[in-house]
Amino acid sequence: MTVPRPILFLDVDGPLNPWRADQERTERAGYRTLTMRPTGWELPAPPLLVRLDPRHGPLLLGLGFRLVWATTWKADANTWIAPVLGLPDLPDVEWPLPDLDDPEEVHWKTRRLVDVAAGRPFAWVDDQISAHDRDWVALHHAGRALLHRVDPALGLLPDDFGTLREWAADQGGGGQADDRWRGG
Ligand SMILES: [Mg+2]
Repeated sequence: MTVPRPILFLDVDGPLNPWRADQERTERAGYRTLTMRPTGWELPAPPLLVRLDPRHGPLLLGLGFRLVWATTWKADANTWIAPVLGLPDLPDVEWPLPDLDDPEEVHWKTRRLVDVAAGRPFAWVDDQISAHDRDWVALHHAGRALLHRVDPALGLLPDDFGTLREWAADQGGGGQADDRWRGG
């Protein structure tokens, strides 16, 4: 029997778009600086400045995960982000109205991601993960989980890809069977 691939919930701003990084440094490192107009950034608002490294798409596709957007970009990530990275259209998590004042200090994405994963193993890459999220997921998620924080001043680095690749391999995945997206 083939083991389905684990899910990788992927944030955009922070891991892929290192919004806190110095622009010159990111461009020297191979990032492209782009202006975008996703939903909510229509005229007269100024366009959004986004930095992306086109090498990240192939790296992400080779990690052994089922990739899923977990970002406020929602489906706009397929319009604006995926083509630059060379990613196919990916499913995206739909969010309830965020509770920014969570009594357990859990990130507003955390409960939803655990819901969507429904016991399946998942990794989550985001710049806003805290110890509260790790504790909460350990208590409420039946499967394995890797909550991997990326510094928004650095974006995804080779070490991050290495950690994710190893974790996916440890789940015994890599199969293609029965890993269609069944999330929300
Ligand atoms: Mg972020």
